[in-house]
Amino acid sequence: MLNGLPQPKKALGVIQINERPLFPVSWLYKQEYCEYQIYLENIAGIKVKPTKQMVAGKQAHENLYQGFKKEAVPVSFDGMLLESKKVQIFSRELSVKDLGHGIYGFIDEVLMTPETFVVIDDKPGTKTYLSSINQVFGYCLAFQSVVAQDNRPVVAALRERGTDNMYWRVPFDLEAAGYITALIERIHLLLVGELEFNSSDNPNKCRACRFRERCDRLCL
Ligand code: SF4
Repeated sequence: MLNGLPQPKKALGVIQINERPLFPVSWLYKQEYCEYQIYLENIAGIKVKPTKQMVAGKQAHENLYQGFKKEAVPVSFDGMLLESKKVQIFSRELSVKDLGHGIYGFIDEVLMTPETFVVIDDKPGTKTYLSSINQVFGYCLAFQSVVAQDNRPVVAALRERGTDNMYWRVPFDLEAAGYITALIERIHLLLVGELEFNSSDNPNKCRACRFRERCDRLCL
């Protein structure tokens, strides 16, 4: 036991590559909302229904991806990098695995131009939540690790789902990389039981939380 919580043997969603645990980048969104959600869902294994917004979001993603697939030309990742030095191209649902930082996921879209890489996460609405920033920074870090030999700068962007409205974009610089690396390390320490999971003290978050019926730290 650690601070009243059982030591995790296995966390749902964590994969192992060469004995290195990798967690999904989307956890960076959950961590900022309330990291106790990670404990409840992925370590305690509590299952709750997805919210209507989650179901709608998944469907919207799928629709966008199917539309993209109809037009897309199959090409290797190295081929994309090479082509994008001449013309602007984009890739959807790009799989990234970053063994160095221990994260993996699928990036909604990467716009590759001869000058830059824009890592885009689609969101419902146009509010710039810190949780959304953390998630897209995680994707930038993972993407940067797979294009380490390419010196084009990476830009992080949030886009209103189903539109071209990139309502937030910033350079993914050293400061952003250091910030998100520290958060990722925190989650790895939580997973091995060296830190205690914090929980939200914001009643508005708890009221909107899908775990509220099962959470022993609910604050209202
Ligand atoms: S109910 Fe509140 S404390 Fe519990 S997981 Fe949800 S946001 Fe966190």
